[in-house]
Parts: sequence; structure tokens; C-alpha cells
Amino acid sequence: MTNKQMKDFVKARVNPEFQSGYYAGLIDKYNDSLDQKSIRNSRIYFRSSSKSGSVEGLNISFLSIDEYDHIAPTAEVSAMESMSSSKYGLVRRWSTPTADGYGISKLYDQSDQRKWVYRCPHCGLVQQLDYQKNIKLVNPDGIDIIGKKVREGTYIYVCQKCGKELDRWYNGFWDITAPGDGGRIHGYSISQLDAVWISASAIKEKELSSPNKQFFMNYTLGRSYEDTSNSFYEEDVLSHRDDRPRVNTRGDYRLVSAGIDWGQNYHHLVVLGMTTGGRVDVLDLKRFNRSQGVEHIEEDLRNIILELEKYRPNIIVPDLGFSGNYVTLLQQHFGKQVVYGCVVKSAKSNGDPVAHFNETSSQVTIDKLTQNVMMMSDMKRGDIHFYKNVDQDLKLFINHWMNVVIRTDEDETTHQPIKTIMRKGDDHFAQSSVYAKVGMNKLIDVLREERETPSIVTALDSDVGAVLNQEPTDLASEFDIM
Ligand SMILES: [Zn+2]
Repeated sequence: MTNKQMKDFVKARVNPEFQSGYYAGLIDKYNDSLDQKSIRNSRIYFRSSSKSGSVEGLNISFLSIDEYDHIAPTAEVSAMESMSSSKYGLVRRWSTPTADGYGISKLYDQSDQRKWVYRCPHCGLVQQLDYQKNIKLVNPDGIDIIGKKVREGTYIYVCQKCGKELDRWYNGFWDITAPGDGGRIHGYSISQLDAVWISASAIKEKELSSPNKQFFMNYTLGRSYEDTSNSFYEEDVLSHRDDRPRVNTRGDYRLVSAGIDWGQNYHHLVVLGMTTGGRVDVLDLKRFNRSQGVEHIEEDLRNIILELEKYRPNIIVPDLGFSGNYVTLLQQHFGKQVVYGCVVKSAKSNGDPVAHFNETSSQVTIDKLTQNVMMMSDMKRGDIHFYKNVDQDLKLFINHWMNVVIRTDEDETTHQPIKTIMRKGDDHFAQSSVYAKVGMNKLIDVLREERETPSIVTALDSDVGAVLNQEPTDLASEFDIM
């Protein structure tokens, strides 16, 4: 939440509770604002997690973090810090789960995994509601595919064993499903299936209007889920290896492009080459220790330059983050017409597939989400070729790409579905390969403008529409409506 959204939330949802009745008598009206309130002898603070320092200086006993999967990790660290002198130190984290093994889903896996379950009054089976097993179609005429409406009474909740109707108002309780030795943190899983005011037909209607399966699974069913077409798998590299060794010279590659991601600990370099036949190969993957201490000043940069010289790249695209003056130094060495500092727009995607090169400033501006999606789909389609031997660098490359998560989220302000990119861990080789591909695309564009071998290069075009395709919900596939 941004600060403004936080204040709107307090105005619309919290303040009305203190305007009349019992709670109105508890609040100190001389200390009642949109970011803090005094209630009896306690104080409640409302803070946005979009900035890491927003709780600095506060001394708190109880911390409640909403939308945990979307907060900056540094915001959590500094919020935890503000509880260090409290004898209570209570933390509650809330979130719609996103990807498996990430954020709230990871914490839940480590917890005692409490589930909201029901005991069937007819047969006695204790069950957590399952979207496939507990919802039954009783009136096939109640579904309006075109209007995307599902009439009340079309679907009902039933017991997954005996098939009799299940009343969710009663019979529900928390079941501890992973007690461990008893010392685990408490984790609670509940979804809209458990909301008694939302009927089975209403849930099905939500499925009909969900933009895709991942969105429906995360936001309506409260389950982590990754869209297979937007997730990277080991196979996307392993099955696209050619019978060739890793090289450390340019050889007779027609075009060579290098991408560099600067890091706190390591810099990552990816070199791509295009053969005269138009095939794009990964030539080099390398990471360099970042130089520490005055005696090693710019040693890392010298090593990178030595490595780059082996390939004599036609273009080099280093990102401008963390780079200090390294991009300028690379430009002095290789020339401004070769080295383009990359400005990465990451906050909100505008869906722009064009990398905007500025020849005057020797910079290129890219939309992070779109370029990642394009590179990912190039690899999935087999348009990027890898060398045979699966060495440590290639393993790390795969690992970094598997940390990239492309998903559909709900925009906090408009509540419309939006595509976002996040990472489950380090993604340096993924980002440096994106920069290398951005450079390669420019070289190919230049070739195309010169009308050389147009047939080769059209095959390398990335179709963003096809890339941003998504897995339909099960109901949508059933009725073939996506
Ligand atoms: Zn039953």
C-alpha cells in the first residue's frame, strides 16, 4: 500500500468503527489522526510498507503486516527491528499467496499448517473444501457463458465423500495438520470457499470472469499457483542444448552482444552470438567478484574488459544500477557507439516491447516485465541455443531464471488485473541475459534496415502477444471461452 492508500483505508474502514457506540468511548479524541490513534493506554500506528523506513523510530509490541507477498524485504526487517525492546514481540503476517516457496506460502510450509475444515453431519468426514471435489453443478441451465453470469442455485457445496449438501455455517473448525514437535509457528489457511456469504455459484461466476487461472487460484481460492506458460523450467535450457562446446573466442559469429548486471557481491556477464545462419547461441556466462578495498580498485572492471575482449562484442548493454562510473569507463574503452547503459523501468509495466535506444546519451530504456517475458519465451520456443556441457555457470543461469516470476496481480488502486514481475531469489544471470538480448535485437534491427538476410531475422521476432498468453481457468477451458 502506498501512504495515500493507507490513509484512505483508515478513513473509510477504521474511523467509522470509532465514531459511535462502545468504541467511541475508548478513543482519545485529542490523539486521533490518520496515521495514529490512542485507545485506552495503547497506541496504534498505520504505516505504508512501500518505503522501508516508515516504522523507524517507533517502539512497538505488536506488528501486523498485510499483503506480505508484496512488501519490500527491507520493510519487514526494519519493522521487526522496531519490536526489539518489546516483551511481547507479536507478529501477524497476512497475504494472498503468490508463488510456491515464496513469501507467505514459504512461511505456511514451515508452520503447523492450520486449515479451516468441516465435519460432514451426514457421514462424519472431516475435509478442507476443495474446489473440484466440494462443488456440484445442480442446474446446468443456470450458466450464462456470454454474459459471464451464474445464477444462484446453479452450484452447491457438497461433502466430497457422501455427496450430500454441506452447510458451511456450522461444522467448521481449525485443524492442525503439521504439528511437528509442537513448537512451530501458527499458520492459518482460509479462502473464499469458506466465506459463508459467498455462494458456490458466486465463486463459479468469479472463475468465469477471472483473467486467468493463476489470478483465480491466488485471489479467489487463496492458493499459491504459477502459470506454466509464464514459469521457467530446467527443460527450457536443457532441451535446447546443441552438440557444441562452450567457446571463449568470437570465432566466426556474425554478431555478438554482451549484457552485464552489476551486483553488490558479483557482477554477471552473458554473451550471445548470432551465426551467419541466424541462430542465436549463448557463448559465455560468467560472474566476477566485486572488487573490495583500495588495493583492488577497478580490478573487477579490468577482468570484465579482458573477458569481453575475447568476444569483440558489437554491442555491450550494462545496467545503470549499482554501476558507479563503470558504464562510462566501458564507454571510454569500447566506444559510445558500442556501450549503451540500460535504464530499467521496473515499477509498473507499460507493456512496451520496444527497447528505446538513445544514440546521443548512449542509453537504452526498457520495460523490465516485457523484456523478461520476451526472453523467457524465446528460450521456451528454443530460439536461444545453449552449449552441451551443463557446467556450474549454466546451472546458475537456470537457477536464476527459475527465480523470475511473472504473474497477474490486482492493482491496488483500480483493482484491475495487472501483469507484474517479481523474483523468488537471485536473478542476475536472467537480467544480464535480458540486456544481452536487448543488444542483440538492436543489431538484428540494423541488419534488417540494411535489408540483409531479412528471412533469417524475421524468425527471431518475439511476439509479445503470444508471450503474455496465459493459462485459462478450468471453467473457461471447459466452455472454450478464452
Ligand atoms: Zn458426507
